[in-house]
Amino acid sequence: MIRRFFKKHARTAPEESKTPPNATETFEEVRAQRDELSTLVAGISDAILAIDLEESPLFYNTQFVVLIGQERLNHGRSKLIEMIRDPDIVHAFRYTLTEGKVFNLKAVPHVQNDRKKFFSLSISPLKRPDRTVYGAVGIFHDVTELKKAEQMRIEFVANVSHELRTPLTSIKGYTDTLLEDAKANRPVESAFLETIHRNTDRLMHLINDLLDLSALDSGVDSLVAEKISTEELTHRIVAQVRRNLEAKDQRIELKFRAAYVFADPKRIEQVLVNLLDNASKYTPAGGLIQVHWGEESSGDTLLEVIDTGPGISNEHHDRLFERFYRVDKGRSRDTGGTGLGLAIIKNIMSRHGGAVWVESEIGKGSKFTCQFPAQSGTAG
Ligand code: ADP
Repeated sequence: MIRRFFKKHARTAPEESKTPPNATETFEEVRAQRDELSTLVAGISDAILAIDLEESPLFYNTQFVVLIGQERLNHGRSKLIEMIRDPDIVHAFRYTLTEGKVFNLKAVPHVQNDRKKFFSLSISPLKRPDRTVYGAVGIFHDVTELKKAEQMRIEFVANVSHELRTPLTSIKGYTDTLLEDAKANRPVESAFLETIHRNTDRLMHLINDLLDLSALDSGVDSLVAEKISTEELTHRIVAQVRRNLEAKDQRIELKFRAAYVFADPKRIEQVLVNLLDNASKYTPAGGLIQVHWGEESSGDTLLEVIDTGPGISNEHHDRLFERFYRVDKGRSRDTGGTGLGLAIIKNIMSRHGGAVWVESEIGKGSKFTCQFPAQSGTAG
């Protein structure tokens, strides 16, 4: 298509129609320039379309073919409206053709292979040396990931605000009542103080989890993989959560088929604490919790935490590791959950170059598996 553009361009540009003094040399130069431009345009990851005043393509690159699909192009015979049905884009091209001015569009949606994508579009006029417009060129830049990140940020801020507001509203309500009681010389209701205490704990927990996630996201503290004894680590963490287990009369069973794991000591503790916390929280009294360490033939180490809790139906598995995603919102909050524990685990595992997943069915308990890659030295 580049070739067609150059031919046409040369034809329509008055200066270039004159016979140059050394025709062979000039022809070689033009060909070299054309080849350079052709390589350049092919290497650009953005989709490019140039059209003439009749709205027929002057040139386009491979990325543009991928963007709209070969069939819509009809071997370059399609007009703009047949290639691109979006009225905003068509309008933008027409504006540039008639006004000779640049037109920018931010994040226009476009369905590509059944996937909704977003493109920023910048359309510039193509002008002859006498400044008359003979076409317009549009550059489509894929901003889907940016748009997704922006949407996630908006949702995240809304979620955080909501999570902070709930305990704060409760604290405010009870302190107001306590103040009124104090002014009226009424005795202090200790249940009110306990509620305030519980809600401040919840806020602290939430803020600590948020700070943790932010540190992991920003990568400020780099993770260092060390050789850690699975037995020593597990016994230490089980001792930390022992009180919760005993309070619910839950049994714990440990299996060590891998003696060591290569991981960041602080972060792997966090993974195990979060998984054991959840297992205990969601498993009814008297239930069984198992921690299994194993090794795959590839050398990867697997940590499995298995419980006899209510289980999680399949439809939630994909979203379970998202920030603030909860299967049962009320239950999670009642048990002091922040909805961030699994998101932190996912983040830690990906920083280790590993993975985490869940296998679970309603009524059959849950198994969370963390996969640590074979010794890799330094992580994240
Ligand atoms: P939370 O603080 O709410 O526990 P998590 O990120 O740790 O947040 O977990 C997200 C959600 O996944 C929980 O709200 C809960 O619905 C579900 N979940 C996590 N672990 C288990 C488990 N062992 N058994 C059943 N459901 C679980």
